[in-house]
Amino acid sequence: MASEIVYRNCSLCEAHCGIAIEVDRTEERVVTIRGDADDAFSRGYLCPKAYALKGLHEDPDRLRRPVRRVGQEWQEIDWDEALDLVAAQLRQVRDTHGPSAIGSYAGNPTVHDFGAGLYLPALLKALGNHKRFTASSVDQLPKQLSSLLMYGRGLSIPVPDIDRTSYMLLLGANPVVSNGSLMTAPDMPGRIERLRARGGKLVVIDPRRSETARMADEHHFIRPGTDAWFLFSLVHVLFDEGLVRLGRVAPWVRGLDELRALAAKLPPEATARRTGIAPDTVRRLAREIAAADSAVCYGRIGTCTQQFGTLASWLVDCVTILTGNLDSPGGAMFPHPATATADEAPRPGKLPYGRWRSLRGLPEAFGELPAATLAEEIEGNGNERIRAFVTLAGNPVLSCQNGARLARALASLDFMVSIDIYINETTRFAHVILPPRSPLEQLNYELVFSRLAVRHVAKLSPPVFEPAPDTRDQWQILAELAGRVSRVPGDVPGDMIDELVFSTLCSKAVGPGTHCPDLGVAQARAAVGKQRGPARILDLLLRAGPYGDRFDEARPGLSLARLRAEPHGVDIGPLEPRVPQVLATESGAIELAPALIVGDVARLHAELEKDEPDDPERLLLIGRRQLRNNNSWMGNIHSLAKGRERCTLLVHSVDAERLGLVDGGRARVRSRVGELTVTVTVTGEIMPGVVSLPHGFGHDADGVRLRVAREHAGVNTNLLTDEAAIDVPSGNAVLNGIPVQVSPAP
Ligand code: SF4
Repeated sequence: MASEIVYRNCSLCEAHCGIAIEVDRTEERVVTIRGDADDAFSRGYLCPKAYALKGLHEDPDRLRRPVRRVGQEWQEIDWDEALDLVAAQLRQVRDTHGPSAIGSYAGNPTVHDFGAGLYLPALLKALGNHKRFTASSVDQLPKQLSSLLMYGRGLSIPVPDIDRTSYMLLLGANPVVSNGSLMTAPDMPGRIERLRARGGKLVVIDPRRSETARMADEHHFIRPGTDAWFLFSLVHVLFDEGLVRLGRVAPWVRGLDELRALAAKLPPEATARRTGIAPDTVRRLAREIAAADSAVCYGRIGTCTQQFGTLASWLVDCVTILTGNLDSPGGAMFPHPATATADEAPRPGKLPYGRWRSLRGLPEAFGELPAATLAEEIEGNGNERIRAFVTLAGNPVLSCQNGARLARALASLDFMVSIDIYINETTRFAHVILPPRSPLEQLNYELVFSRLAVRHVAKLSPPVFEPAPDTRDQWQILAELAGRVSRVPGDVPGDMIDELVFSTLCSKAVGPGTHCPDLGVAQARAAVGKQRGPARILDLLLRAGPYGDRFDEARPGLSLARLRAEPHGVDIGPLEPRVPQVLATESGAIELAPALIVGDVARLHAELEKDEPDDPERLLLIGRRQLRNNNSWMGNIHSLAKGRERCTLLVHSVDAERLGLVDGGRARVRSRVGELTVTVTVTGEIMPGVVSLPHGFGHDADGVRLRVAREHAGVNTNLLTDEAAIDVPSGNAVLNGIPVQVSPAP
């Protein structure tokens, strides 16, 4: 066997751990996948999902050729026929009903493929549609919105400087399992161990005693959806006890008095009834954070996917700011990635929020509408109805609220195309599926998640295998489709779209106000050579970025060539202070009391006044992340799917006894929108009054071609989540704190 080791990143989650893939070059197959001990960022750490890259590459259910649905059968067709057919259908819908009749949904894997991220805007622009949806609005949109309003950009999200902090207060997050989210940090278990070994403290607030909570110094249960009250009370104590210190960002902070006035109404004694956290505990935690040498408050999916997601996301940052820990080592800091251009461009004019609205009247944010409205946008009337739909690496039937209604809506479309590798719960409704290559056949770079990383690192992921003949990268599919649906008469070649994408980014990367102020587009274009596709763009962004060679090969800066020569990546160093340069608000300040957020506080007060329903069968449903699950995909990989049943309902023993539920027995779970039957796990790890189901299961639907996943089907928790429940400012889906009735099932 002629073997070779190829070093690259695992692209399955935000952590992008460095992996060493042993390849048998005789048979062109993966022998094994290990952690890369020399990786500049992850230093050999790996979770069990990385090995699934082999399973994914070899999966016989993974599509290799475009397919067209004829009745209930799928027929392989060639690329040109498939792309022409798709373009003709999309054009026809647009010509007949206008661009609003076309919708799109991009799933989470899109941001793990830099080519897809770079070329998707070209397709969306060519389609001319405003009905865009992504997984962001079932995830982190509230954090993006609070960051936009506080700092001026949706991706200016301060991340915990976990390797230097002395105190971490963590809400609604389970980074030991997720390895960070909006905090790219491989080996979170190791980072937490090191935090505690240097005398630091980790406090976890969560309705479940999660894997992270088990590693913490303290864990407190909190009732789902009440984080904003808890955080407001922390802020109250900081003001009340004179503990506010703004630290180095003090000259740029605005709205302190307004925040103080808002918090004055929410002392811990007023919120404990809702949160379940005793006032003494809140006061003690506030004093501890204020007294710590450095501290950071971090909230994640549980604080976003709930009724007050934007308020909670904002308050997380307020706690960090008020204790002098924003933009300070050991606090929350703004990464400055190697390819930074977007957060150094001139301040945007109109806010990317509320420029158009959904049929329900919910505002657009960052160019997209809330996924909570997707079904009704398809079911709507007249020309505003979505009739044709494009999905990209997304499975909204499993990921979005009320999956049953969404499935019915998708089935009613005039035309649907999916750019996807599987026939899954969503893509089974497509008329054509265009499958991109396996990740191991593609060049990659973590463009998005290096913007959220706890350390500055740059690494290239080269393809492991030559692409199979007659296959396409995701970016090629997007570019070719964009060319075919553009409104320029006749087909525009994919090459021309590539040229357009490059030119657009080049004009932002060089020239006045950039790191290359004296360089023009023509010079930069000449310097990066004749290569095509995302590699050329990456070379451009690296060389024009903050650590780039400025297109001078004699300078010791970053470039594509340099990354090709450093297979373990380049360690650039720890995070550094970036205020005020990073601020892009109209005032140039950090806005502690943005009007949109202040306006939502009344909703929080009103909810506090309400009496809770007196129903002994009523419990609150939350999600949970599992180490061997990856959102709604990867369920078809045997190495991940095998083992004991994981899609079970966690129920506290007190609730189980009261409701007559037994461990291993079955429960019927009902919500306003649906019901399901699931196996029960009785445990003390969940808060009384709360039940938990993981998402991403429910693989037993008709027409799904996922043979391994079907054997471990589980249930789709989004049959229970309610599309009427949203975080009002962002429109983000409420996926935690869903009222459900639970009873024994036969
Ligand atoms: S934590 Fe696991 S899934 Fe995520 S990048 Fe690392 S190895 Fe891959």
